[in-house]
Amino acid sequence: MTYLLNDASAFAQEAVLGFAAANPQYVTAVHGGVVRSTETPAGQPALVIGGGSGHYPAFAGWVGPGMGHGAPCGNIFSSPSASQVYSVARNAENGGGVIMGFGNYAGDVLHFGAAAEKLRAEGVDVRIIRVSDDVASNTQENHRDRRGIAGDLPVFKIAGAAIEAGAGLDEAERIAWKANDATRSFGVAFDGCTLPGAEEPLFHVPAATMGVGLGIHGEPGIRDIPMGTAQEVADLLFEGLMEEAPAGRSGRVAVLLNGLGRVKYEELFVVYHRVAERLSEAGLTAVAPEVGEFVTSLDMAGLSLTLVFLDEELEQHWTAAVDTPAYRRGDLRSLDAHAERVPRKEFYTPGEEQVPEASSESQTAAASVQGLLERFAEVCATHETELGRLDAVAGDGDHGQGMVLGTRGAVEAGLKALERGAGARTLLVHAGTAWAESAGGTSGALWGSALTAASRALSDTSAPEEDDGVRALHNAVEAVQRLGGAQPGDKTMIDAAVPFARALQDRFQAGEGFSAALESAAAVATEAAASTSELKARLGRSRVLGEKSLGTPDPGATSFALLMTALAEHLGSLTR
Ligand code: ADP
Ligand code: MG
Repeated sequence: MTYLLNDASAFAQEAVLGFAAANPQYVTAVHGGVVRSTETPAGQPALVIGGGSGHYPAFAGWVGPGMGHGAPCGNIFSSPSASQVYSVARNAENGGGVIMGFGNYAGDVLHFGAAAEKLRAEGVDVRIIRVSDDVASNTQENHRDRRGIAGDLPVFKIAGAAIEAGAGLDEAERIAWKANDATRSFGVAFDGCTLPGAEEPLFHVPAATMGVGLGIHGEPGIRDIPMGTAQEVADLLFEGLMEEAPAGRSGRVAVLLNGLGRVKYEELFVVYHRVAERLSEAGLTAVAPEVGEFVTSLDMAGLSLTLVFLDEELEQHWTAAVDTPAYRRGDLRSLDAHAERVPRKEFYTPGEEQVPEASSESQTAAASVQGLLERFAEVCATHETELGRLDAVAGDGDHGQGMVLGTRGAVEAGLKALERGAGARTLLVHAGTAWAESAGGTSGALWGSALTAASRALSDTSAPEEDDGVRALHNAVEAVQRLGGAQPGDKTMIDAAVPFARALQDRFQAGEGFSAALESAAAVATEAAASTSELKARLGRSRVLGEKSLGTPDPGATSFALLMTALAEHLGSLTR
């Protein structure tokens, strides 16, 4: 559990600010995360590494010469938003393009991808490395579709060293993928972790058992087996990894024994004692092994073992000097380019968007949209615990929190836009951007772009007609489909949203008014959301634990239905 906090929803951001204050010689806090506080060589590719908070030292702890140039920091266990990633990458970029590195999770793929698109549109070359070291999460043939756990450290260490050694963007990208393809991790959990401010851990491992194949976002293992001794755990992990040892291996491996938060150093050394024996029996030489906490999961009780099957090139970069707040190694004087450590003065801060002039009709509509957003925020607050509980069954338990933070951010941005005289269209754009930004996570990005897409059907100069409302909702659902790529049956919010949009269209075309059509469509969404309990998750975080999701409705489909019901009620109350 977390003993000390002020406001649970501000925990991650306050931690970033404190981290930056404690490490001014390395990092400066910017919007969305941290970047190096000293000048970097012009034309050097920027390595931007990140993900959710709750994993320290990953990722902010690895920003400094020889490793990262910047780290976007999301909420606890949630991907940073696209605008956080964009802001950090804009700040880190120095004429050499950007390599974005993150663990392979749907939310991170979505947000880093959206930020990359925006940077590319501005002429910056961006490459994306998805770390996928966790052998428990997919088959060997699908190595690059696996999720990322402690392998983040060696992959980013090697990529950062390559850049430090002068690699350009193509070369650094090649070496980073090569490192990822040579890296394998496997872990076990003994107990779940507790989100700051929460009373209960996200899951418990049954007594006298351990969960094999843990995730790092409070996902339990994929199967429980009887609890083992330190030696048995070492053997289990080592043997699991050796099944995938490449045929033509050099005999040299980078080794990482990673504590997830509650397993302490001496326990890790007891386990490593056996790992070292097994390595030597297998004829493998451990190169610069690391035993400690590198990619944590708050206070999760668990550990993982990582092996990187090295060749000469990977070994050279693995052992090269690095100097960051949480990770230092080698002869720091060799980090020549940084010898001067010139403090950096200029940083980019995202500006406030302009508010275009609006007619009074559209301002009235904007006030009504704002009323709706407030209703959304109330509904999410009421159902926060329930949505979190649904998400904890096969996901990471943050859906309630994400929806609360997202709707609250949308309400705040909407209020500001109203004060500045915004029309309905502009208000929705601001609210959408803020929703995605405040919530982080997959659903936040999808809802954010849904609002932005909906705005295209509205105007700042005239009052919306009924068919504008239908088009707005159609656009919103279409955007969720486009951005998320989910199909009906994948067990996502799409399973509620698609039948909803179809019913709305049909009823409206059949001559029911917007309000009545919306009421029927919301009922369709509610029923469709409930039916998702019969589906197995095939997408998003939950796909890894698809089987476990059987019998529980999808959290995103559930919240979608709740909000569409609130929308129908809101509209009903206006037209009555
Ligand atoms: P995260 O998965 O990042 O923790 P949330 O917990 O807030 O985000 O949201 C989870 C919900 O997001 C899922 O229940 C599902 O409905 C929805 N979701 C996940 N991936 C997709 C996708 N590709 N398309 C549509 N909806 C998705
Ligand atoms: Mg979640």
